Amino acid sequence: LFADDLSPADTAALDTNHFVALVTELGGPTSHTAIIARQLNVPCIVAVGSNLNDIKAGDKVLVDGALGTITLNADPEIAVAAVAESKLLAERIAQWRGPAETKDGHRVQLLANVQDGNAARIASDTQAEGIGLFRTEMCFLSALEEPSVDEQAEVYKKVLERFPNSKVVVRSLDAGSDKPVAFATMADEMNPALGVRGLRVARANEPLLTRQLDAIAKAVKELGRDENAPTWVMAPMVATAREAKWFAGLCAERGLVAGAMIEVPAAALMADKIMPHLDFVSIGTNDLTQYTMAADRMSPQLAYLTDPWQPAVLRLIQHTCEEGKRTNTAVGVCGEAAADPLLACVLAGLGVNSLSSASTAIAGVGAQLSAIDFDTCVKAAEAAINAEGATEARQKVRDILQP
Ligand code: PEP
Ligand code: MG
Repeated sequence: LFADDLSPADTAALDTNHFVALVTELGGPTSHTAIIARQLNVPCIVAVGSNLNDIKAGDKVLVDGALGTITLNADPEIAVAAVAESKLLAERIAQWRGPAETKDGHRVQLLANVQDGNAARIASDTQAEGIGLFRTEMCFLSALEEPSVDEQAEVYKKVLERFPNSKVVVRSLDAGSDKPVAFATMADEMNPALGVRGLRVARANEPLLTRQLDAIAKAVKELGRDENAPTWVMAPMVATAREAKWFAGLCAERGLVAGAMIEVPAAALMADKIMPHLDFVSIGTNDLTQYTMAADRMSPQLAYLTDPWQPAVLRLIQHTCEEGKRTNTAVGVCGEAAADPLLACVLAGLGVNSLSSASTAIAGVGAQLSAIDFDTCVKAAEAAINAEGATEARQKVRDILQP
């Protein structure tokens, strides 16, 4: 199916009995089209630009979703072999069982990203070892007023109770920018992506944050969760060590394990100063890419920049992992990058301990990790870091991991 663009409603209504791949001129890698296509499990390439007009109805086209390539009038033998290989891979993925490890036994924890109780229920039916990102702001997108501590606790319990014996990482409100929350977000900002969003909202309104932390602590207590079902809390959009220290202090007062998202380049560069205040960090590659490349993650024209394969982004992740090792701080990734099986191997090779993604992507990542040694992940990471650009990084890593 080739289209200019698809609305989320169009994409959700698609019937995979009628098409085998999806290509759009517009959209972005973190757009709804891409996210839903991932759930449908069809090869999908978005934001290809305007040359789709060259392809006519009836032309034979080979779409490689992993590599992001479209080959017009592909050699039939090559196309048949590629489709057969893809079917084989789909079978391997369907059969994969966690916990994830490389062929030589290097463990990588695979976790799910969720936004509510329903998503947590779906995730609990997958091989997810827990939840690596609970986007709490998504529960309140239509709330006009701040829910009380009791009401919030009930909402959080709906997610926590689906993973009664596993780790759950709850993120404090990431209101602002593309996720306006009526009771928290500043109105009429000139540049909301660079404005008062995430933890920054709480600087002017600390009680908003402390009430949320109280609600999380209440949910944890009422469900009787303990160290066998650890509940970690992390702040979005941390940029300085002072912010990390402040957030960690508020968590400590409530007996909560504190972490920060690394999604502002400054936080990656200052990891050595930030980490000593925290128990863990989780790299948000969606925003880290947006801010490193100075490219709006919602812009279809800039999708070639908002690509986590950009070596500049990978170098910031590399630096964060090195500091994580030095300071003995767990480093996870919870952006869309963690859903890409090849990139997941690169991240593991860089030293990332856990990967959190849409739960539908977990088996694909697990199956890929299980097919290679850790040494190969390290080699793939080196190749990606030293590539000239995102396209070259992808190609080099594919040659190493899927020769
Ligand atoms: C990220 O920025 O990578 C992330 C996980 O957070 P969100 O997509 O919710 O901004
Ligand atoms: Mg983010």
